Amino acid sequence: MIACPCPVCNSVNPKDKRLRCSILVQSATTTLAVDAGPDFRYQMLRAGVKNLDAILFTHPHKDHVAGLDDVRAFNFFSGKPMNIYANELTQEVIIREFPYAFTDTKYPGLPEITLNPIDTEPFTVGDILVTPVLVWHLKMPVLAFRFGKFTYITDANRIDEPEREKIKGSEVMVINALRKEKHISHFSLSEAMAVAQDLKVPQTFLTHISHQLGKHDDVSKELPDGIALAYDTLQLKI
Ligand SMILES: [Zn+2]
Ligand SMILES: [Zn+2]
Repeated sequence: MIACPCPVCNSVNPKDKRLRCSILVQSATTTLAVDAGPDFRYQMLRAGVKNLDAILFTHPHKDHVAGLDDVRAFNFFSGKPMNIYANELTQEVIIREFPYAFTDTKYPGLPEITLNPIDTEPFTVGDILVTPVLVWHLKMPVLAFRFGKFTYITDANRIDEPEREKIKGSEVMVINALRKEKHISHFSLSEAMAVAQDLKVPQTFLTHISHQLGKHDDVSKELPDGIALAYDTLQLKI
């Protein structure tokens, strides 16, 4: 956090240096990102991503959409618009926040975007089957996504019973855990761990961690087997 004097914000451990949360999902032929927050440009540079087929959005909060303008570089090299998958609420915000990308008068350098509306029906991006899972961020509907045996959930503090069924059978899950204290719209550490245990997911990684959770190494020691803190640049093969 900018200007924060706390031990986490001043830690020299790279695992305590967190950009806004996002993931890259790759199959043999397809690459997609989930969310494009303010750090999207640097995350794409750092991961050396040369081709990106699509961006899936979980919800329209600024820390998940603010980097969308930087798809311009992918447009330039691919010669194609970027495919965006988002629900109605997120699409409305994207059109409002990036109006210049949706005008009739196009000029060079504008981000080119194709909006693909989604709700909770499964869809495919290239050879990747995506199953959206509806979760709640206080009163805002957020889309989590299941890809085969992997489920990615961020910015939730509640998952209703019928949607929990869609997550069951996942071998690996990423779920948000903001801090130890309860929060109005994010799972706390104990709440996220309870979801992992309830859904019997063998390996869970925690994301969307704030500096209030504590240092990576300290918190890691407190976690049971099968639950670990995610960190920037973590890669999983599933
Ligand atoms: Zn949010
Ligand atoms: Zn967020």
